[in-house]
Amino acid sequence: MPLKTRECSLKNLEQIEKTLKDLYSKYLPCLDGHTADYIPELAKADINQFAIAIVTVDGEIFKIGDSNKNFTLQSVSKPFVYGLALETHGRELMLTKVGVEPTGDAFNSIIELEKQSHRPYNPMINSGAIAVSSLINGENLTNRLQHILNLFENYVGHSVSVDENVFLSEKKTAHRNRAIANLLKHFDIIEGDIEESLDLYFKQCSILVNTVDLALIAATLANGGVQPVTGVKVLESDSARDILSLMFTCGMYDSAGEWAYSVGLPAKSGVSGGLLAVVPGKMGIAVYSPLIDDRGHSVRAMKVFKDLARVYDLSVFSSGVRDGVNK
Ligand code: GLU
Repeated sequence: MPLKTRECSLKNLEQIEKTLKDLYSKYLPCLDGHTADYIPELAKADINQFAIAIVTVDGEIFKIGDSNKNFTLQSVSKPFVYGLALETHGRELMLTKVGVEPTGDAFNSIIELEKQSHRPYNPMINSGAIAVSSLINGENLTNRLQHILNLFENYVGHSVSVDENVFLSEKKTAHRNRAIANLLKHFDIIEGDIEESLDLYFKQCSILVNTVDLALIAATLANGGVQPVTGVKVLESDSARDILSLMFTCGMYDSAGEWAYSVGLPAKSGVSGGLLAVVPGKMGIAVYSPLIDDRGHSVRAMKVFKDLARVYDLSVFSSGVRDGVNK
């Protein structure tokens, strides 16, 4: 279904548009960070690309910059594929395969799996996400991928496809993820074929979206699982809530504490430069810019979110009272 940008009815419409314009011009010149060159195809990204989008639970869309430019989901896919597995298998089985504890380690860490738990700490790090992909049902890879594509089509309201070049580029260079998958198989977390699970994981990471799509995905969670423009029920409200909890504690990997302190929203980043955050009951926000920091988060996006959270007092812990202290 084609998206329609509805007439804005927010009282502070002009203020939101001005804020987006200001943030866009403030951070456009910022060229800090680097592209995710460990996946060679991602190193080709245009570092000037920058977009911000907001979708409210009423379906109102605000956008600025290169908001139609496609990029791959990468780790932004993880919470949503987890949601699909959760709705298929239920909490009890999921907990036998993947935990719900944050780690202070990097997104691609293998240490915790080998040393202690023998079960991934959470579904947001690579080990957990690969385990989750292995749990997506289907007769073969094509079939299993179709379930994931259908899921994202429901989230964004139009058809989506895989960037085959990014997929092949990651597949060819994923030595660390392959090591993780082998360890997962050794510990009986992955039951099926390792290569098929990895391929499915690389494919879900290579699904193409734009910044408005990301904001729509976030807004669907903000709206209890109902896509705010199409009205399609994408997932149960309980699942949306569970996903948000995991995004809050684990979505920003080893920056989760700093993010909680400075932004205070459930969020998920991806190494291609997308970052989405959810203001429960209100809106989804997304930023895209391919220059990332050493922890895998878009540098411009981090800056935009910190400013936005301050201007609009977005933290989920906000009381709504602002007395000017500690701004
Ligand atoms: N496909 C990437 C990987 O597995 C995703 C990492 C990310 O976006 O944080 O390394």
